Amino acid sequence: MKYQKIRGTADFLPEVTNKWQYVEAKIEDMLKKYYFQEIRLPIFEQFELFARGVGETSDIVSKEMYDFHDKGDRHLALRPEGTAGVVRAYVENKIFGPEHHKPVKYYYNGPMFRFERPQSGRMRQFHQIGVEVYGTTNPAIDVETMHLAMEIFKSFGIKDLSLVINSLGNTESRIAYREALIAYLEPHFDELSEDSQQRLHKNPLRVLDSKDRKDKEIVKDAPSVLEYLDEASTKHFEEVKEMLDYLEVPYEIDTNMVRGLDYYNDTIFEVITNDPDFGANTTICAGGRYDGLVEQVGGPETPGFGFAIGLERLVMLLEAANFEFPNLTELDAFIVTIGDEVNTEALKIVTELRKHGLIVEREFVGRKPGSQFKTADKLNAKVVFTLGGMELENRNINMKLLETGNQTKIQLDDIYSDNFKEIYEAEIKKLMSGE
Ligand code: ATP
Ligand code: MG
Repeated sequence: MKYQKIRGTADFLPEVTNKWQYVEAKIEDMLKKYYFQEIRLPIFEQFELFARGVGETSDIVSKEMYDFHDKGDRHLALRPEGTAGVVRAYVENKIFGPEHHKPVKYYYNGPMFRFERPQSGRMRQFHQIGVEVYGTTNPAIDVETMHLAMEIFKSFGIKDLSLVINSLGNTESRIAYREALIAYLEPHFDELSEDSQQRLHKNPLRVLDSKDRKDKEIVKDAPSVLEYLDEASTKHFEEVKEMLDYLEVPYEIDTNMVRGLDYYNDTIFEVITNDPDFGANTTICAGGRYDGLVEQVGGPETPGFGFAIGLERLVMLLEAANFEFPNLTELDAFIVTIGDEVNTEALKIVTELRKHGLIVEREFVGRKPGSQFKTADKLNAKVVFTLGGMELENRNINMKLLETGNQTKIQLDDIYSDNFKEIYEAEIKKLMSGE
């Protein structure tokens, strides 16, 4: 029997996790500046949470869910996105209560699951870092959060990014727009793709989002959602634009942009990369406002705003730009051992060195000394210690700085002393200068 990973999933080996750890840490640093705190939630939830939360007519729920019945016959699903779970936790843990600072700002980082056709940048298990803000309709939150997304990408030196925004308006505006859109699309019914025909009455806004070429042609001349915003939504959108201008954050407006999830209102946005090396027009971050979702999931009326960054696509983008990821596991020292009789002493030495904070590896598998030196080189060790029968007898060890090739002997007593770190650093200085 030959086992294989499931289609659309990936194994992350250390050279990859090294990049991911770096990217995640950098993003999390930025999130903390904006006072976001981490929340960790179950990877599976009740199917109904996503069906009601994300929306029955969304592709995610109608086609892409990994849902199943467990042995207790509960209908469950692997989470396809993060927001529904965070909203569920917000309600269940009564975070709306007065003892919690408002707005509540949470972020999450983890795997999401969608049954999609796998291709580059589109996986069945993929990863998102997302943020959610609860408790304010202040347009400054829309702007601050979109700005945060852009700042994250800027911190990696990614250029060629567009912030694309739109407003879907509040419920009243959307009902008016929905009618107008249906009236516009109905005469084109026969020309629409099968998917769009089905959506026309159930969820006509989704037709705007169709990837079908002919659908795109038709929706080009559709009425704009912005013309149907009522006074409150118009004001909100105007303020968002003014504040973006004030922060000098460039943006484009795409009135045909809707989102893949049904819960949004007012401001929605995507961050799109135009990098030709990467395949232009790829969305790496998307989000918006969802003022009705908390209530829909059983909580009190609570406005929300959030986004999610696709980490696979971000890492791919950095790779395409030849981004230099720092190596997060630089080896400080490697211990070359010569002869079985030094095995136990080597064990003690690595233990000591690690106590002083050094990253240390040693020989275990019985290679010849020459091959051990090559290993140390390959692992990029700064220092190689060599311990053989002679050294053991004399209670010292050879220390070589690979950068200069200079070497010295240090006493095992020094290695085992409390001020080893100072001795070690002094020796490194000498070996650097070749004294
Ligand atoms: P798309 O239009 O590309 O299908 P989406 O609208 O379904 O994206 P969201 O649900 O808004 O995407 O998720 C936000 C981000 O998560 C996307 O911009 C993308 O970077 C990433 N993402 C979404 N689906 C996948 C997937 N199947 N594989 C990898 N990344 C994904
Ligand atoms: Mg999708």
